[in-house]
Amino acid sequence: MSHLMNTYARLPVAFERGEGPWLWDMQGKRYLDALAGVAVCGLGHAHPRLTRVLQKQVATLIHTSNIYQIDLQEKLADRLAEISGMDSVFFCNSGCEANEAAIKLARLHGHKKGIEAPAIIVMEKAFHGRTIATLTATGSRKAQAGFEPLLAGFVRVPFDDLEAVRRVAATNRNVVAVLVELIQGEGGVHVCHPDYLQGLRAICDEHDWLLMLDEVQSGTGRTGKWFAYQHSGVKPDVVTLAKGLANGVPIGTCMAAGAAATLFKPGSHGSTFGGNPLACAAGLETLAIIEDDALMQNAVEIGDFIRSELRSHLSGVRGVKEVRGVGLMVGIELAFPCGELVSRALAAGLLINVTADTVVRLLPPLIYTRAEARTLTDMLVPLILEFVGEHTAAVQPAAQSA
Ligand SMILES: *Cc1c(COP(=O)(O)O)cnc(C)c1O
Repeated sequence: MSHLMNTYARLPVAFERGEGPWLWDMQGKRYLDALAGVAVCGLGHAHPRLTRVLQKQVATLIHTSNIYQIDLQEKLADRLAEISGMDSVFFCNSGCEANEAAIKLARLHGHKKGIEAPAIIVMEKAFHGRTIATLTATGSRKAQAGFEPLLAGFVRVPFDDLEAVRRVAATNRNVVAVLVELIQGEGGVHVCHPDYLQGLRAICDEHDWLLMLDEVQSGTGRTGKWFAYQHSGVKPDVVTLAKGLANGVPIGTCMAAGAAATLFKPGSHGSTFGGNPLACAAGLETLAIIEDDALMQNAVEIGDFIRSELRSHLSGVRGVKEVRGVGLMVGIELAFPCGELVSRALAAGLLINVTADTVVRLLPPLIYTRAEARTLTDMLVPLILEFVGEHTAAVQPAAQSA
């Protein structure tokens, strides 16, 4: 029996090594990676340039402490401020920690305004992490069940619905911030309307709320810009990052602009590992490679190519509802649960994900070539056609006899 706590229903495969978008299991079978460790390994596996930097950093200095100045952390903060337009950066080790920092900033912002019980507006189907605070912010009863009591101080509204936010604004004097993913990842690759962010910005400005964006999954180039909000002209007050920022070396950041950038003081927040030399060297090199190799442009091109291939084969097929996404966040929504597709793809040598029960989610590395994208769609399309064919064949007689 495994001594691991039973937190994941793991697939029966373990990988031994990787190279670019390919992984090999312990038996030597090769897989095309269309998930990138859930939006983490944007540069693919064993990227030579990143490997060299990491090897050198490990042999030089891994960790000191935030009790001391950390030159690489200053440099990564400078670079992140430059590409995001934010003013200050807090470093931690994961997405949920980054969001914890954002939630603490919102509460400080509220208390500064004399609000004793500050509340944050969060969205249905949102995913913000598994700590108690971020679990409370997450819009999934399945994730929350059994962990009550949840935290006070969150108000939930439907995603991509400005009217719902305005209604809360009209009645709830305790609101101090909005926390939102512009493209919900775990929730099913839901993309907000182009004017949503502008609308949120206007409401936040009117009420002196912080506009806080969870870009843990959508950030670091995946949508074709450094950050998803950069597709609009809107500047948020707080942005959180993690997953793709250091290609697999654990890192998270909470970035803030304007008044929110100076809310934390020595003693208000911290992290033992956060921003250590190894993580920051990895982050700096990951950003440099994304820029030097034009991987954001590639994410747009390859993402559009994948969606158009999928649409040309799947549009109008019974059981396929929609192909959607931005850049290399791709969702294929089916009319029924399709978790089984993950193991069928695995057997065929392809790594994909299914989220929100009915949505096939693809998060390929940003380095995909057109040939690799073609391999992906060539493998995936027949699997989906076969699956929906079986399903619609199976439900048809039942529907007719009803
Ligand atoms: C994955 C994810 C998180 C949580 O990140 P962890 O590193 O697992 O804590 C938070 N928000 C979003 C949008 C995510 O996709």
